[in-house]
Amino acid sequence: MFGKVLIANRGEIALRILRACRELGVRTVAVHSEADTEAKYVKLADESVCIGPASSALSYLNVPAIISAAEVTDAEAIHPGYGFLSENADFAECVEKSGFAFIGPRPETIRLMGDKVSAKNAMKEAGVPCVPGSEGALPDDSTQIIKIGRAVGYPVIIKAAAGGGGRGMRVVHTEAALLNAVSMTRSEAGAAFNNSTLYMEKYLENPRHVEIQVLADAHRSSVYLGERDCSMQRRHQKVLEEAPAPGIPRRVISRVGDRCAEACRRINYRGAGTFEFLFENGEFYFIEMNTRVQVEHPVTELVTGVDIIQAQLRVAAGERLWFKQRDIEIRGHAIECRINAEEAFKGTPSPGKITNWHAPGGPGIRVDSHVYSGYTVPPHYDSMIGKVIAYGDTRDQAIRRMRIALSEMMVDGIKTNIPLHQELLRDERFVKGGASIHYLEEKLAARSEAAKGK
Ligand code: ADP
Repeated sequence: MFGKVLIANRGEIALRILRACRELGVRTVAVHSEADTEAKYVKLADESVCIGPASSALSYLNVPAIISAAEVTDAEAIHPGYGFLSENADFAECVEKSGFAFIGPRPETIRLMGDKVSAKNAMKEAGVPCVPGSEGALPDDSTQIIKIGRAVGYPVIIKAAAGGGGRGMRVVHTEAALLNAVSMTRSEAGAAFNNSTLYMEKYLENPRHVEIQVLADAHRSSVYLGERDCSMQRRHQKVLEEAPAPGIPRRVISRVGDRCAEACRRINYRGAGTFEFLFENGEFYFIEMNTRVQVEHPVTELVTGVDIIQAQLRVAAGERLWFKQRDIEIRGHAIECRINAEEAFKGTPSPGKITNWHAPGGPGIRVDSHVYSGYTVPPHYDSMIGKVIAYGDTRDQAIRRMRIALSEMMVDGIKTNIPLHQELLRDERFVKGGASIHYLEEKLAARSEAAKGK
């Protein structure tokens, strides 16, 4: 195991990684911006280094500053967390070239999966079911594009190969609108990602978002740790996640899960990763792979008993996976509510000082958060201030425990989305399970219409 790990992230995930390191007896270096100097998790680390001003471009995305911090503190490895530099192949390469271990996949794997056209091709070859669409990138020729559109069948979605964060895509309903949509998406993609490569997919009208968590060592062993349902989304951002996905038979999961684990061996995957799928009419359709740990990893940890962050550290240090697929058993049900500093129903950010913070507890409740009474939520970063995760023997018990937990929780001084979660946990369609990725948006739209009518 490494002697010392540098954590190239902030907030709850920095604290989560710090805890995993401490349990493994690994010393930690927290790097932080000037806005995070006073955060308690920074003080919990064995060492800390300020890497720049509040703006993430100058701190959490500042590669030379992070590498120098690792050099001056003699860290052996760098954990990138999620967001920021976690899926940046150039960063991973720079980390390795500078003599440190990157806690994540090899740079070439990040690059392969970061380009969605090459990712889809690799997955198709590995037998992972994909959304039907263009064979590779769209050509420039209009006649060819129209031909592809007819073959795929309307509605279609035009997507940027380098897209991310829900940007760089456009739904097209008719052939008449196709060429204009392609040229607009092409110029947007060129401007936003410096890469105007596009591809086309069939637009699925009412799918669920179901993803498969995988774990692979550097010796070509891999397993999948079941699935998560992340269909509760707002503006393509996940709000609430759960494991397992309600109503999907285990044999359907194991068929796709086995393909994912096999794909990991083929692409020589290393570390934790997620295969994201749309699920419609009983079928899985691959959309993309995330080559990092995800915000929602705790629900998988609770139903499988595997500590995913520790596993990342252990396989990055060269250990072989210490369990096989047959040892993985899904037990009970877990739900995660992302707690955001924002106005609950409008979603407008609400940074500022938390005057009172009281976290819930009791059987089956886990709170992953770096905040405390007196903590100031800086305006510069993502609005997520923590996660409440509820575990139960059944989905029903997990829901009931989550309702109690949120009713106990106190966050004063700023606004949070706790009221939104509370409403969702009482919503008939949510409680039934298996709602589509559009459900929450539709519910919120109906809610604001009703409010206008009053
Ligand atoms: P990003 O990397 O920007 O998140 P994804 O490829 O993961 O892009 O797609 C983001 C979201 O866009 C999906 O969760 C889904 O809501 C929607 N989407 C993407 N592809 C399709 C498709 N073929 N049909 C329907 N919706 C889609």
